[in-house]
Amino acid sequence: MAASPVQTARRMAVDIATGAQSAAEICRAFLERIHVEEPRIGAFNLVADERALARARAIDAERGRGPGLPLLGVPIAVKDNMCTAGVPTTASSRILRGFVPPYSATVVERLESAGAIVIGKTNMDEFAMGSSTENSAHGTTRNPRDLTRTPGGSSGGSAAAVAAGMVPVSLGSDTGGSIRQPAAFCGLVGVKPTYGRVSRYGLLAFASSLDQIGPLAHTAEDAALVLQVIAGHDPRDATSSSETVPDYLAAIDRGVAGLRIGVPRAFVGNGVDRDVQQAFDDALARWEGAGARIVDVALPHAGHAIPVYYLVATAEASSNLARYDGVRYGHRAVSRQGDGLQQMYDRTRDEGFGAEVKRRIMLGTYVLSAGYYDAYYLKAQQVRTLLRQDYEQAFDQCDVVAMPTTPTPAFKLGEKTDDPIQMYLSDVFTVGANLTGLPAISAPAGLSADSLPIGIQLTGRMFDEATLLAAARSLEVD
Ligand code: GLN
Repeated sequence: MAASPVQTARRMAVDIATGAQSAAEICRAFLERIHVEEPRIGAFNLVADERALARARAIDAERGRGPGLPLLGVPIAVKDNMCTAGVPTTASSRILRGFVPPYSATVVERLESAGAIVIGKTNMDEFAMGSSTENSAHGTTRNPRDLTRTPGGSSGGSAAAVAAGMVPVSLGSDTGGSIRQPAAFCGLVGVKPTYGRVSRYGLLAFASSLDQIGPLAHTAEDAALVLQVIAGHDPRDATSSSETVPDYLAAIDRGVAGLRIGVPRAFVGNGVDRDVQQAFDDALARWEGAGARIVDVALPHAGHAIPVYYLVATAEASSNLARYDGVRYGHRAVSRQGDGLQQMYDRTRDEGFGAEVKRRIMLGTYVLSAGYYDAYYLKAQQVRTLLRQDYEQAFDQCDVVAMPTTPTPAFKLGEKTDDPIQMYLSDVFTVGANLTGLPAISAPAGLSADSLPIGIQLTGRMFDEATLLAAARSLEVD
């Protein structure tokens, strides 16, 4: 009764509830798979095997005593920027070495209350700053589909763990594309929910007006299942919404008949790889064949999204990361003779943060400083409003906006590490959803000539994740 890596989370939870499969056996099978795959993939910062097995055994012992929980006994990997009580949480940064949170993030609590088993913490770009999982104090994660390539980032570990069959589902966080881009590079479904849909309590903040947590899965149905569990109001996160959470699973098979899919041709036409363009056009044709209508939309300010994003995100990061001072969390530099408090702060931050994080703190501090605030930060916020208006106008003509998730399939490890601007430009299609707060999904849309996965992205109206999941689902059924 071995758990097959292709088995869905939904099936697993049902089988465990009915006693057809044992949670402990499933857990052991995935731990075994992690043991085999991890040395070549490097998806995890930490595997909590004992904790996971203990929970699985407890589930088996309790089985049959209550109604089946939606994720009963389902192993899940959680990105290492979400607090897990008693389990180290590092955001892949040296500065959080030794930090063991005394509480769990709301998403982790909700997963566990739904029966899920957190099997480990996944590698990421430090503090989620990056697009390749190469900016990590824990080393690089490799793409299971081609080990010479990046799994994407910053949730590269969460994507690689699912793609390699080490867990059926995982959680990532998405500030500018960090769930959708790795999903695209690894051939998965990834959802960036509407801003406020999922609680951020216990998520180590990167850019608070952009960050959202969401699922990565092989199928739209499993993504819906996880989203269902983590979505909803949380009094501990003032930005979380009290909008009711619909039944995503009930909506998943409703298809795309009558759906108006807007395509911003002028924006998409720029610098997109040929295979990606082909996969994009094929996916649109398939939706059209299933009854959707393709309409042209304009997003006149979308071309400014990258500079706006890198101004807003760095500004917010510089303020959020001020808390890592060597006093409150994790690493503190060894004090030297004659050191004062300021020297301790300086050396702790110098030793603790990696190069990209330092770059962002400096950029962010600069754009917020007197004399530059108006020219950069304020201007970026104004253009952000224009971008929101672009989408509002587009949604007069369509129900969802389609774009490729990324301009190219997974790039090679090391290819962009020396060129931060090139790395930033790879987020061109994903940052818009974060700047506007709109929900977006990346769904698998075929393979490149070298068999690399390609993702298609849909952005929806506020709180309309259900339509995105149903459209992603319709690409899965032949
Ligand atoms: N790649 C983007 C960045 O480096 C997005 C990261 C994210 O979504 N966390 O900021």
